[in-house]
This record gives sequence, structure tokens and C-alpha cells, in this order.
Amino acid sequence: MAQPHPFLESLNAAQLKAVLHAPDVPLQILAGPGSGKTKVLTSRIAYLILHHMLPPSSICAVTFTNKAANEMRERLSKLIGKQRMSEVRMGTFHALCALFLRKFSKIVGIQANFTVCDAEESKKIIAGLLKPYKEFLSSNDIFLKDGTVLSYISKAKSKGLTATQFIAQHCKTSSERKSSEFDPQNDIQRLVGNIYQEYEKSLRRSNSLDFDDLLLFGVRLFTEHRPATSWCKHVLVDEFQDTNVTQYELLRAIGGPTEGCVTVVGDPDQSIYGWRSAEVGNLARMRKDFFGSEQIFLEENYRSTASILKASLAIVSQDKTRIPKTLLTSHPAGTTPVLRSFPSEHAEANFIAVEIKRVVAYMGGLLRWGDFAILLRFSALSRAIESALQKEAIPSAVLGGHKFFERLEIKDLLAYLQLVDNPNFIPALTRAINVPSRGIGEKSIMALIARADRTNMAPLDVIEQIYDAKQPDIKPAMKHKTGPFVKAVRVLRKLATEGGSPADLIRRLLELVDYEEHLKKTQPDWEGRWENVQELITFASEVEHDMNLAGMDPAQTEISDTPLRLFLQASMLSSEGDTQSDEDSKDKVTISTCHAAKGLEWPVVIIPAVEQGTFPFYRTDDVQEERRLLYVACTRAQSLLYLSYVGKRKVGGETKMKELSEFVTEATKEHTSIFTARTAQLLPAERAVVARVLGRREASEVDVARRVTEFRKTARYLAFGAEGEESGPVEVAWHPALALGGITRTTTLV
Ligand code: ATP
Ligand code: MG
Repeated sequence: MAQPHPFLESLNAAQLKAVLHAPDVPLQILAGPGSGKTKVLTSRIAYLILHHMLPPSSICAVTFTNKAANEMRERLSKLIGKQRMSEVRMGTFHALCALFLRKFSKIVGIQANFTVCDAEESKKIIAGLLKPYKEFLSSNDIFLKDGTVLSYISKAKSKGLTATQFIAQHCKTSSERKSSEFDPQNDIQRLVGNIYQEYEKSLRRSNSLDFDDLLLFGVRLFTEHRPATSWCKHVLVDEFQDTNVTQYELLRAIGGPTEGCVTVVGDPDQSIYGWRSAEVGNLARMRKDFFGSEQIFLEENYRSTASILKASLAIVSQDKTRIPKTLLTSHPAGTTPVLRSFPSEHAEANFIAVEIKRVVAYMGGLLRWGDFAILLRFSALSRAIESALQKEAIPSAVLGGHKFFERLEIKDLLAYLQLVDNPNFIPALTRAINVPSRGIGEKSIMALIARADRTNMAPLDVIEQIYDAKQPDIKPAMKHKTGPFVKAVRVLRKLATEGGSPADLIRRLLELVDYEEHLKKTQPDWEGRWENVQELITFASEVEHDMNLAGMDPAQTEISDTPLRLFLQASMLSSEGDTQSDEDSKDKVTISTCHAAKGLEWPVVIIPAVEQGTFPFYRTDDVQEERRLLYVACTRAQSLLYLSYVGKRKVGGETKMKELSEFVTEATKEHTSIFTARTAQLLPAERAVVARVLGRREASEVDVARRVTEFRKTARYLAFGAEGEESGPVEVAWHPALALGGITRTTTLV
């Protein structure tokens, strides 16, 4: 039957049922990787808008990462057009909460110009709070890092525990303590509890919220202020298996009063964030809490070839506690996944680089660099690989690795702008006041903050008063030192109130503090950093452009939504760690952690270091979660999959003996032929499968022949490639890069 909306025609029966499912009956879609969960979610949003006539701005779509939000935006704009797409409220739980909190900040007792405090700033605050305990810690031989305290606090917050509740749960009362002697467990917990309390005070003092607060205040907003929920007529959540307690509460708070207009999709086999307090049990909880909710299962995988799916399922099904589920493939077997071993990480890295080149050649134009992803258990594994790719002149980009918003130069500039927006934000003040260096010491800054506390003023206002000579007890030197800083902030503030765009503000700031000169003087690699500054201006103009798209005239938005504020918010939320601009990923091999690759797909996936100690990671508390992580990584692959391991690997300066991961040895015991050690010849039949899976046109034989000839001419160590690798020793055309793998001019490889 012809559908009134053409996009529905590309769905299978189960997917269609999910998209057409009544909007007011809570829906849970459970399905394996590549079965179209995200596609269904996107189509359902389109259907709610086009068929049920819901205003786009009344739909809240929650994705797990910023990158996933961008992908969904792209898919959705094809279905409903860019204008309507931009009105849908889409993003991570954090981003959505920030958006609503700006609108209704007063209700939860914060000011609309709150600043989002990132993890680095949080750590600095905690480092300051830990100082008074230094003696206590060292006299008891306790090594407690600021990061560790922050992660305790963050775990407590993601369970919804306040500092008082944390202390009540984790610490003994004085009557419970038998003696006044040091009780390590209890006393450390109490210390953490105290710092938690102080940390909260410090954030509020700075008029700021950390990432966990965004969720907690969001819950408060939606539970205490019912009209806020009228903003949302339907909430859809992707990757629901990885939500934590607070995020679940948030869904209940937003979705509950909308008569159950919620759709969640998830896959228990892909729950990989238990270490960050995610609760896979939220799937079952949702069925109970949302009355009358229905379940739909999708069972057909559209992403991967049958052999990739078979190998992946063989790995995950070794977890005998897992609930088995059906996942059929819609594609032919294709090339058998490859499992290779190498003597060292350098040999492994060289193989990866050469193999990528070889595959590109043998596909005759069917695949490009951007079709490859190298997925790592942790990002430190990328060093050898990045340099091997570089040697082979293969462009690559690290997904979430560049941490753009964590760079010194970006933080410097953002600090000024944050202060202009929120004069109470102490972390920005302590940073900006000495950019460029003005010789204002830590003690003077602390004294300024203390003065602000005494007089109940914003620290920035105190500094301005000193400059205006309204504080007679301050030495003239201080006024002199703070002068240029105060002038710069004033000019920027004026520009911002006159509606100056964030990009203009940054340009003006660069002039005011002569930032280029400052970089030149202080940073040997200043040129690259100056490039980043330009990139920040580009980002600022993009945010502005998006604001216009969303129907908001930057000059006329409400006070709480000034262009500067929206820009700062976008910057802080981008630092959640998974951003990659389109420019970054343009036809480059992606290097990513397995965690960050969730929800994404690539034609070719390579997973190095599939070794004991890495998979499972030696410090894990949950081996099954590690197995699922490998499963998630394998199921990102559409056409070709490679796993590799080495005999020896240098870890933290020490060379360690390595062996293949138990996840693979267990799987191959039961299913003997899911992997091959041979890299395939990539013959026409295999190419045809690749083309079919990717929905691309097959390359012509002429193209393939031409590219393979080119490859042979430039390939300097074919022994790693397809040719006769298992048919006895092979002469290696030597290349200096091989020396890294311990291969000399006379080495023969078997
Ligand atoms: P994951 O669990 O990894 O997030 P998913 O279930 O969300 O996977 P999608 O990313 O939505 O899966 O879909 C996987 C791939 O399959 C996408 O390329 C998508 O376009 C394609 N696909 C999904 N359903 C269909 C269909 N009915 N026909 C053709 N292609 C489909
Ligand atoms: Mg998905």
C-alpha cells in the first residue's frame, strides 16, 4: 500500500508498527545493533510532526552524545526540512536541561546567567577545597586526588544523593564510631562528604552548575513546576540502556505528566556505561512506571554482513547470563572477519596502515579514507597507530580526542566571555585576570574573593570598584595591575549589551588584550593555537547561524537567551567530549574509543589490542560489560571487520607480554570459523557484497586494476598484505618504517 509519507516506505513491518504506534501510549523499542532503532526514532519524530501535527518545538529528542544529535539532525532534516528540524529540541540530557533551565531558572533558585562548569574547573575547585586537609591526608598516608573526589561526588549526584544524604548513607554517626581513632573508610567518606558540601556552596557562589547539576536541577524544575512540562508533548530517548538514575527521574518528570507520550529505544547487550552509574534496569523500570507501555522488538540487522554479525554474536553470547534475542541479517555473508597477531604494537600499527591502503586500492574507488574506523579500548593506544598512518600519508582524525574546548587558548578567551555574562563565576575570574600575565598573585585573588564574600558582591564588581578608587584601603599597585583587565571587561560588556555577536566579541577581545602577542610570547606552538582561536570565531558564527535558523533573532531574544549566553552554553556542552566537526571527519580515517563509537557505523572497522588486560580492561569490576563493549565495537562494522593483538606491547614505558582476549578465544572455541588469519583478496564477488551493504555503485574492473597497479608501485612491504602471507617466507621490500617493527633489511616474514 502506498504510504502518504514516502519515508515510511523504507521501513520494515516491525519498524513501521513502531513509527505508527499511538503517540499517547508509552513505547519501548528493544532491539540489537543495526536494527534501525535510531532510524525508527527519527522517523517517528517526523511522523509526529507531519501526521499528528505536533509542533516541532514540543518534541524532545534525547541522544547519548552531541555527535549522535548532529547525525539525527542530519537524518531528520531530510525528512521534514531544515527549518522544522531546527525547532525540534534535540540533544543530550545535559543540553536539554540547560536549555530549559535558562528559561525557568528562577523556579529552581538560580540566575538565568548561570555558567556551566566543566570537569577541569570542577577539579580546580576541589583541589582548592582539599588544601586544608593536606596535613590530615599526609599524616594518615592517604593519597586522594582531586579527580577521585570529583568522581565520588559525581557518582553520588548521578544517583540523586545530596551531600547530606551522602554523609548519612556513607558515614557513621559519632555514636556509631567506637573510638576516636582513625577509621580510614569512614573518615575518607566523611572528608568526601564535607568537600561535596563545600563544593556545592562554591558552585552556587559562582552562580554555576556542573554537568550533574544540570540533570538534578532539571529534575527539580520538571517536578516542582508543572507548566514547564507543557513544553514537551513527546519525549524520545535513544540508547536508553545507558541512562542513569537521575536521567531516568528526568524522563519520568518530563514524560509522566504528558500522559505517557514517551518513546525509548535501547539494547541491554549494548549497555557499556555501568562504570558511570548507568542502570540497564531502567528498561524494566520504565515498563512498570509508565502505565500501559508497550514493547516492540526489531529483529533484522541492516548494517552488517552476515559474517560480521555472526562473529559479533558469537562474542556477546558467551555471557551466559544474557537473555538471548533474535537478530537476523538482511545481507549476504561477505568477507570473513580477520583476526591477526603481530610481534609488537609497531608491527600491528604498520599492518593497519598498509592494510587500509591495500583495501582502498582493491576496492577501486568504492571505499575512501573516511570509510575506515580504528576503535580502541582506551585512547592511549592510538599513539603508534597515528604515527603509522602519518608515515603512510593516510589522513586521520581522533573522534573526541582533540578536546577543542579544553585547550588553553580557548579556555582563556571563554573565561573573559563567561565573566562578561556572569560576574560571579570565580573559575573564569581567576583565569582571565592574568591573561596576559598581570602579576596578580593567588593570595591577592583570594583576598579579592574574600572581600566580595564579605560585602556580598560579585568578585568582578569588587575589582571594578578598586579600579574606580572606591576602595580606599587598597594599594594603588593593585589598581594599576587590574586596570587593563577592567577596561577590557567593560568594553566587552558594553558590546554584549548592545547586541554584539559572540564572534565580534571574540575579535574585540583579541585586540583588547593583544592575545596574539601573548600567545607568541608564552607558547612555542603559538601558530597552531592561533589557528584554534580562528576556529573558535568560526564556531561562534555557526552558533549564531543556528540561532537564526531556530527562528530567534539574536537582537531580540529574551534577556535569558542572549547570543553570548547561547554561544557559551554551546561551547560548554560541546566539551562533553565527543565533538568532531564535519571538517575534521571529512574523508579521514576515524580513530575513536569503543565507547565514543556507540550508535555509529563505518564500512570498515579495525579493533587493535584485543588482548587480555585490555579486553577485559585489567581494572574492570564488570567483565561482562567489557565483553559487551567489544560487541558494540564489532557491530559498528558494515562490510569488513579486523581484530588484532600482539605478543608484546609497551604499556606505560614497560614492555608486557600479551595474549589474545578471552572474549575471542571463548567465542572461537564454540564457533571455529568466525575469524580468519588471512586478509582477503577482495575479489569481485566480495566487492559486490560491500557495494550492496553500503548501497553504493560497484567499482569497474578497470578502476580496480588501475588502483591496484598504483598500490603495488607504491607499496613497500606487501608481506603484510594479501600476497602469499601464509604460503611461506616472503621477501620484503624494505622501508624505514619497518625498522620500528624490528624488521631489518634481511628479515623474512612468514
Ligand atoms: P545501534 O544499536 O548500533 O545504535 P540502530 O538499531 O540504532 O543501531 P540504525 O543506526 O538506526 O540502527 O540503523 C543501522 C543502519 O541500517 C543504518 O545505516 C540504517 O539506515 C539502516 N537501516 C535501518 N533500517 C533499514 C531498513 N528498513 N531498510 C534499509 N536500511 C535500514
Ligand atoms: Mg542507534
